[in-house]
Amino acid sequence: MLVDAWGPGNGRASSGGETRVIRRGYGHRGHYVPLVTRALELWSELEVSANTPLLDRRGVLWMASQPGEFEQESMATFRAEGVRFEELSRGELEERYPSMSFEDIPWAMYEPDAGALFARRGCEVVWDAVREAGGQVLVSTARPALDSGGACRGVQLADGSTHLADITVFAAGPWMPELFPEALGSRLEVTRQDVFSFGPPPGAEEHLRLPVWAEHATELFGDGSFWYGIPDGLSRGFKLGEDTSGGPWDPTHGERLVDPERLERARAYLSHRFPALADAPLTDARVCQYTMRRDSELLVDRHPGLPRLWLLGGGSGHGYKLGPAIGEVAARAIHHDEALPGPLRGLQLRG
Ligand SMILES: Cc1cc2nc3c(=O)[nH]c(=O)nc-3n(C[C@H](O)[C@H](O)[C@H](O)COP(=O)(O)OP(=O)(O)OC[C@H]3O[C@@H](n4cnc5c(N)ncnc54)[C@H](O)[C@@H]3O)c2cc1C
Repeated sequence: MLVDAWGPGNGRASSGGETRVIRRGYGHRGHYVPLVTRALELWSELEVSANTPLLDRRGVLWMASQPGEFEQESMATFRAEGVRFEELSRGELEERYPSMSFEDIPWAMYEPDAGALFARRGCEVVWDAVREAGGQVLVSTARPALDSGGACRGVQLADGSTHLADITVFAAGPWMPELFPEALGSRLEVTRQDVFSFGPPPGAEEHLRLPVWAEHATELFGDGSFWYGIPDGLSRGFKLGEDTSGGPWDPTHGERLVDPERLERARAYLSHRFPALADAPLTDARVCQYTMRRDSELLVDRHPGLPRLWLLGGGSGHGYKLGPAIGEVAARAIHHDEALPGPLRGLQLRG
């Protein structure tokens, strides 16, 4: 049985955006790389079985500042794991992507097998797959139903009905801290994130064919902020996001109007890196949220105080792509009632 308060990929959910990046560049967090490799396989299988495109392998370009620690560490992992990549000089970048300005970019790392996922669509496909496999899907708010001994025996829905289960899994994204305040309230922080899409002017459509891109530690604003973009998110425009937190956020009641100051920063970044888009109009804007763990690890563990209840989440701004691989790891741990494999122990609450 699968329950969601507002339906798959709804407008409040972190997975409710049109697109999310899938990449194996992970800097010193190399333990996520085999998970992304597995996730790529599973996303590909899902798009075949659902007969729906879910993955756009247009590549990911990482623009490096000096010394490019993140890229250097990623490339060391790529060599060890046999992941394809290219190292591009400024000259090569200018030749390959003439619509971009690289004057302050000494070099870049390119991942050809990475790209973007169609996020909201992926949620709908999973929802339908559960139903087609004979599972029950329900739009309702759920909370754990406890027996007299304090063990979780399933879920209680908004209409008061109780649905029994041997094992219950809560994967409620940014709602996890309020659902489980004692276990997670101090461990997860929900932050506001504004995202913008711009419409290239006629004649500048080549921008929509660029790879997904990211830039750590830009010097443009003097604050080392991290920017990323997905050039053509299902025809919504040229999407641009800043990784910096927009402060604490209430995912249920927050009014999703974008911050004009953030929009101004986004425009400044856009015109610096993509000069022909300096006056491109805004075509889409969204307020979403990250569910941050202090160490940016995801979360997969038993509830520390409630037997037969598992907690999944803590996406920390990078969790979407990993969904199917994390689901597989979690399912194995749950079915065999065992700890996560060694390299993934940091995803447990006790680490
Ligand atoms: C702007 C932005 C950019 C991002 N970029 C990337 C990226 O490029 N790559 C990447 O991999 N990740 C990215 N992420 C992170 C990624 O989107 C999240 O980690 C991921 O979507 C989290 O999925 P989730 O299922 O944990 O949470 P959600 O997608 O929020 O799903 C939680 C669901 O739980 C439901 N729910 C809540 N409470 C209850 C309840 N009581 N009962 C029943 N249902 C309930 C909600 O309706 C919701 O559908 C980004 C996030 C944001 C905001």
